[in-house]
Amino acid sequence: RQHIGKIKTSCTEFDEMMGGGIESQSITEIYGEFGSGKTQVAHQLAVNVQLDQEQGGLGGSVIIIDTENTFRPDRIQQMVEGKANELGIELDYEEFLKNIHVARAFNSNHQILLVDSAMDLANELKDSDKPVRLLIVDSLTAHFRAEYIGRGTLADRQQKLNKHLHGLQRFANLNNAAVLVTNQVMSKPDAFFGDPTKPIGGHILGHTATFRLYIRKSKGDKRIVKLIDSPNLPEGEAVLAVTRDGIVD
Ligand code: ADP
Ligand code: MG
Repeated sequence: RQHIGKIKTSCTEFDEMMGGGIESQSITEIYGEFGSGKTQVAHQLAVNVQLDQEQGGLGGSVIIIDTENTFRPDRIQQMVEGKANELGIELDYEEFLKNIHVARAFNSNHQILLVDSAMDLANELKDSDKPVRLLIVDSLTAHFRAEYIGRGTLADRQQKLNKHLHGLQRFANLNNAAVLVTNQVMSKPDAFFGDPTKPIGGHILGHTATFRLYIRKSKGDKRIVKLIDSPNLPEGEAVLAVTRDGIVD
């Protein structure tokens, strides 16, 4: 078994709550309402994973399965510039963009297939100077939510989501990579689902995602992240801010 790596989040409290950062060989789920900052955290980790270990990274590249077309190269540039200022070093954002492999998923079946493509790419890059150390699925559940509507289809949805999560866990194990998935929750109940104010995937996701984080808006640019579920860490809360430079204390 390989040594578990940790990717720093750029927020000290958040890292401390996570026992050092987002872990490899695990799935971390971040759930919250629209606009709460899930995609911002994903972008920040896509930058940070590329940094050297002393800088909080794993010296690796990242694959993003983008299901909502929310990946923004401009945002990566801002975050790389922010990180360069923070560390007092020069960083080339174009180099960072090169190590972010983005695949758009058009529906849930395609999304599942893209994990196989991710595995192929990770194998290709295994002995390179930037092995894949992070896989992001943003959003894990949006296609599933849109395609499986109504009570009769819920069991099918769970079964598929479960299969997908097993593929992701396998990816994490075989590549010593961190997997980050996002999951949107609604602020108000809607007609279709039992309780859409809770993240979809319910129990199955609860058992598979090793770390579950709930993110919510606070005052101004502040966000509160809560560790809801972890195999080895106490529950906790951390305050972070989303700025032009990215995630900060
Ligand atoms: P979601 O949880 O839906 O994925 P996002 O991660 O997309 O939410 O968060 C969107 C929020 O992030 C915006 O409402 C804004 O507060 C913040 N944000 C996005 N881009 C920037 C930026 N360049 N500078 C500062 N804040 C930003
Ligand atoms: Mg998002």
